[in-house]
Amino acid sequence: MTIKVAINGYGNLGRAVERAVNAADDMEAVAVFTRRDPQSLKTAGTPVFPLSQMADFKGKVDVCICCGGSATDLRTQGPAAVAYFNTVDSFDTHADIPAYFADMDAAAKKAGHTALISTGWDPGLFSIARTLTEAVLPDGYTHTFWGRGVSQGHSDAIRRIEGVEGAVQYTVPNPEAMRAVESGEHPQLTTADKHTRLCYVVAASGADKERITREIKEMPKYFADYETTVNFISAEELARDHAGMPHGGEVIRVGHTREGIKHLARFQLQLDSNPDFTGSMVAASARALVRLHEHGHRGAASVLDIPPAWYSPSSPQQLRAQLL
Ligand code: NAP
Repeated sequence: MTIKVAINGYGNLGRAVERAVNAADDMEAVAVFTRRDPQSLKTAGTPVFPLSQMADFKGKVDVCICCGGSATDLRTQGPAAVAYFNTVDSFDTHADIPAYFADMDAAAKKAGHTALISTGWDPGLFSIARTLTEAVLPDGYTHTFWGRGVSQGHSDAIRRIEGVEGAVQYTVPNPEAMRAVESGEHPQLTTADKHTRLCYVVAASGADKERITREIKEMPKYFADYETTVNFISAEELARDHAGMPHGGEVIRVGHTREGIKHLARFQLQLDSNPDFTGSMVAASARALVRLHEHGHRGAASVLDIPPAWYSPSSPQQLRAQLL
């Protein structure tokens, strides 16, 4: 069976999902939905429709992958889409996941559909790594480090400062904090202790660089608690050296099974392109969602509720022979 996929929203993630679906033998992208003028989008071949035509595809799509932003789109787009389809998304505002799950669960149950929420790498693969390593090593502690990678949210925050024409912010893991975690001594570390922030900024001609630096470093929540470095560069350097969207990180679990017997479990990602990798994980999750639905689940579920074999196009027999 070929899984018919619709893509709701065509930004970085929507484009990456289309590439991953096109590369999969068992999936076919049948529609992109957008809030913009469909004529203004150039896809890799998938026909584009205005979001207002979504209802016409009811019954013609096995899964709708919602690729809108977590900050403002998904809280409304997710429940709206699950009224017509089974859905997958990569909602990543960790603190709001329980509330989003409740909304999606109610909307999906009402429609008799299934919604797989918060797939990707964090939440997603990192959540699976945290859960498994904690279950195996209950006497221990887990730390997650992010980076080195571009944070779109922090880059956007800098771009909103007066006199800034362009900016990229890298989140960088702090090697001393990582060593402390690895030591097994259960260090008490905040996110700010574990990471530094490295900013590359293009200032408008004549702009006050000292003021821009101060505004960045004093920005509450985003930078004020972190060791932050601000470098001013030219627009050419920004375009040449900082156009990619690399990211990654690692989940580290340290635990003891007996006095003096220490174990360290580590799951690491180094990604040349955050959207590409997230899109691949989200596409694999669409396959898992279809199986979850076939198994009778109605309502919402997360990556933690999915058997690993369901993400794979291989049969259980093949997986037992080759990967077990
Ligand atoms: P994005 O490029 O900003 O796209 C978000 C939405 O904005 C699109 O769906 C699109 O909707 C609209 N859009 C895109 N380009 C536009 C443009 N030029 N002008 C106007 N509107 C435009 O965001 P993204 O990089 O794809 O990321 C989407 C979400 O993925 C993030 O918010 C994050 O929550 C999630 N994410 C999750 C993980 C994870 O590991 N779980 C990792 C990475 C990202 P329309 O087509 O309808 O206009």
